[in-house]
Amino acid sequence: METTIVEEQICPYCGHSLDVHSTVEGKPEAGDISICFYCGEIIIFSEHLSLLKCNVNELNLDSDVLGEILRIQKKIKNKIANENNN
Ligand SMILES: [Zn+2]
Repeated sequence: METTIVEEQICPYCGHSLDVHSTVEGKPEAGDISICFYCGEIIIFSEHLSLLKCNVNELNLDSDVLGEILRIQKKIKNKIANENNN
């Protein structure tokens, strides 16, 4: 896991400012998928590395990869839900 500080971007779902991304390998590139740590929504890096809304079901991902993304998303959403209940 690598953490990269990038130019500030805005989550297209919740509007939070994002400037740090953790990647499995290397720096974020166009077409990479990310998950917003504030709202748990899945976002994708555009050609210019801005963040766009993403429907993972339209990406034809390998089922293992899709399963892993959804597993991480669920963990983040559970964490957000727990924080909101405290
Ligand atoms: Zn967000």
